[in-house]
Amino acid sequence: MIKLEPNKDLSLCSTLACPSTAQCYFELSYKDDIPFVVASTKELGLPLLVLGGGSNLVLTPKINSVVVRNTIKGIEQLSKTDKNVTLRVGAGENWHKFVTWCVAQNYSGLENLALIPGTMGAAPVQNIGAYGVEIATLVTQVNAYDLVEEKFICIPNEECQFRYRDSLFKDHEGRYVITSVELKLNRELKPNLSYGPLKILEQNEHLTVKHIYEAVIAIRTEKLPDPKVIPNAGSFFKNPILSTAQFKGVLELFPDLVHYPAGDQVKLAAGWLIDQAGLKGRVNDQGVGCYEKQALVVVNPKRANGDAILDWAETVKQRVFEHFGVHLEMEPRIWR
Ligand SMILES: Cc1cc2nc3c(=O)[nH]c(=O)nc-3n(C[C@H](O)[C@H](O)[C@H](O)COP(=O)(O)OP(=O)(O)OC[C@H]3O[C@@H](n4cnc5c(N)ncnc54)[C@H](O)[C@@H]3O)c2cc1C
Repeated sequence: MIKLEPNKDLSLCSTLACPSTAQCYFELSYKDDIPFVVASTKELGLPLLVLGGGSNLVLTPKINSVVVRNTIKGIEQLSKTDKNVTLRVGAGENWHKFVTWCVAQNYSGLENLALIPGTMGAAPVQNIGAYGVEIATLVTQVNAYDLVEEKFICIPNEECQFRYRDSLFKDHEGRYVITSVELKLNRELKPNLSYGPLKILEQNEHLTVKHIYEAVIAIRTEKLPDPKVIPNAGSFFKNPILSTAQFKGVLELFPDLVHYPAGDQVKLAAGWLIDQAGLKGRVNDQGVGCYEKQALVVVNPKRANGDAILDWAETVKQRVFEHFGVHLEMEPRIWR
């Protein structure tokens, strides 16, 4: 028998630490419980939202939904050859702990994604990426419960519609409860040192997965605030992608514009735009602002509520638009 918990305090459930209450809450440890949770949710006439580690969410004060925290655990080996290993990982596994486990087994592929907060199940949702690697390149299949079809399904990589910080699961938020993710990793080191500060490792003739993992942790620890100390949700805005024509227009006005190639388009550095718009280190009267060392990170040291975070996000978007004529899009999801 499934029992939903009413009026659940979620203040400790997101890395932005926004005070928030969910109308109902359930901790999901077994995938077989999903149909029962769905039935109870339907009876209440409420939407169902899946919570992982809360590291990519802005929680507003009242969430009129059933919040289901996914804690499904387990790492299963599906196949192993001399070159590869395929694993099925429970959606509630902690991402960084899983990466650390892979590094200890000498499995290569995820080392550039070390120290990203959150859970396995959320990783395909926004196609997590860092330092030249995206999870899309390693996922073979996502297993989920489809709330529309009301059945368990398996979605192969080609159908996940992975894009920059986007996927099928983000497009249809609230439709899928991801139960596990299958990944194919390398048993030989396949280093990706394309990100500037990692290039120095090319000189190491005895490079291991662990060396890259440790370098990534060192860079991240230096650059990003620890959410346990200063609440934040990592990069708060996506790097805007412009057509070549749009880009040329902005570049004419701002010749030192920081940019990167993105296929036949151009990606701008959102952090640089915010910094140039004069908002780095600036905070509003509730203490919400842009981190002093990295303008792209919105910080919430006084644990203000989600509305205050969204107000600040609007301020940033407006200022960047006024300055550069470029639209910023938020990376975290908003729950109301
Ligand atoms: C300090 C810091 C650094 C970060 N660095 C990076 C980075 O380098 N790269 C990067 O890509 N991201 C980064 N992030 C963002 C965040 O860590 C990732 O997006 C992470 O994957 C979110 O995981 P989560 O479990 O906390 O998801 P949550 O925040 O709980 O949820 C995020 C979204 O995923 C959905 N979701 C979660 N679990 C499931 C599931 N099982 N089934 C269906 N939907 C689900 C939720 O409904 C929600 O829409 C960073 C965040 C912080 C705080």
